[in-house]
Amino acid sequence: MSNDTAIEQREVVVVGGGQSGLAMGYLLGRRGIDFTILEAADAPAAAWRGRWDSLRLFTPARYDALPGVTFPGDPDRYPTGDEVAVYLTDYARRFELPVELDSRVTSITKADRGYLVELDHRAYLAEQVVVATGPFQVPRVPVLAERLGPEVVQFHSSVYREPDAIPAGTLLVVGGGNSGFQIAQELSALHEVHLSIGSRQTPLPQRILGRDLFWYLEKTGLIYKTTDSRIGRRASGRETLVGSSPRALRRRYGVELHGRTVDAAGSTVTFDDGTSLDVRTVVWATGFELDHSWIDVPIFDDNGRVVHRRGVTQSPGLYFLGLTWQHTRGSALLGWVKDDAEYIAQQITANRSVAAGESRKPERVA
Ligand SMILES: Cc1cc2nc3c(=O)[nH]c(=O)nc-3n(C[C@H](O)[C@H](O)[C@H](O)COP(=O)(O)OP(=O)(O)OC[C@H]3O[C@@H](n4cnc5c(N)ncnc54)[C@H](O)[C@@H]3O)c2cc1C
Repeated sequence: MSNDTAIEQREVVVVGGGQSGLAMGYLLGRRGIDFTILEAADAPAAAWRGRWDSLRLFTPARYDALPGVTFPGDPDRYPTGDEVAVYLTDYARRFELPVELDSRVTSITKADRGYLVELDHRAYLAEQVVVATGPFQVPRVPVLAERLGPEVVQFHSSVYREPDAIPAGTLLVVGGGNSGFQIAQELSALHEVHLSIGSRQTPLPQRILGRDLFWYLEKTGLIYKTTDSRIGRRASGRETLVGSSPRALRRRYGVELHGRTVDAAGSTVTFDDGTSLDVRTVVWATGFELDHSWIDVPIFDDNGRVVHRRGVTQSPGLYFLGLTWQHTRGSALLGWVKDDAEYIAQQITANRSVAAGESRKPERVA
């Protein structure tokens, strides 16, 4: 940081302007807390804007709302990703949330009182900080992808947009999660599609006896089971496939299923049963990694995972929001992130220092 970097002060800085950051902002605003939301992208809800065009949510509209305003339309329908982006953008506007766009945070360090939150050419001193940078950050692609020849078109599911842009020829989707299944299904209308499933996820029907799966999870209380509970512990170790199944993908959409992809050479991909396939295109639906390397505060374990209890770290005043299974299955979902946000808002309120009333004029480091 250069000596003439402008430093502003806030009681709370929220990093990330997705659903988690916005829900946090709404609750902080209602408590009269002085805060800002720093968002790296040039628009709120960037993650939803970047997802494929035909994406439909697996949660119905009744479970897609943040605190304070319902999701528009029939509560039983499944909105598109674009609708979520519009909803979140309107949400920020309606509640006049102070979202600063094009504001990527490059580091968080401990300061005398609170934290120094640095951006490229400016910084904030914040008494408390909420990191809401998302559960799906860095696309994960296995190293064997490097062994594919240049004649193969390959990309991660996070850059997939629509089927027309895919070249003709055999297409392999690698990854048996919700994204892999949905993309394979969509592409099967125009292409010969294969799906490589490394580890089977438990398929759950989207609707049972006319009601949505999440209605049952809510009514039975399963969605609220915490990582401390026996059921929560078991469920958090298991991925689930909502509304898709290997059998339906094969029978209804003609997608050929394979086991784990174990090798690649030129345009040939090999699976764990020794069979192989010549491919023109590979879509890596192989998930994401977290990247918290820019946070320079000792809150990580030996594997680089943040140590926290319901988002509260051991460094006073530093919180996380929106992590997968942060507390429950709902922690990283639109309709339930409010519960963790409310809990963190309570912690923030309890920690508010006497400095809360002090003047916060921009100052310069001498
Ligand atoms: C394909 C897919 C489908 C999904 N479908 C559903 C569904 O149907 N229903 C549901 O409830 N959930 C769904 N989810 C899960 C979850 O709701 C989303 O992943 C959601 O985007 C998470 O919101 P978030 O605000 O926690 O994180 P994000 O939406 O990822 O937002 C984080 C924000 O932080 C910003 N950021 C990152 N780093 C920095 C930095 N250093 N400085 C400043 N800003 C930064 C990013 O630009 C981003 O805007 C889905 C997820 C995926 C991947």
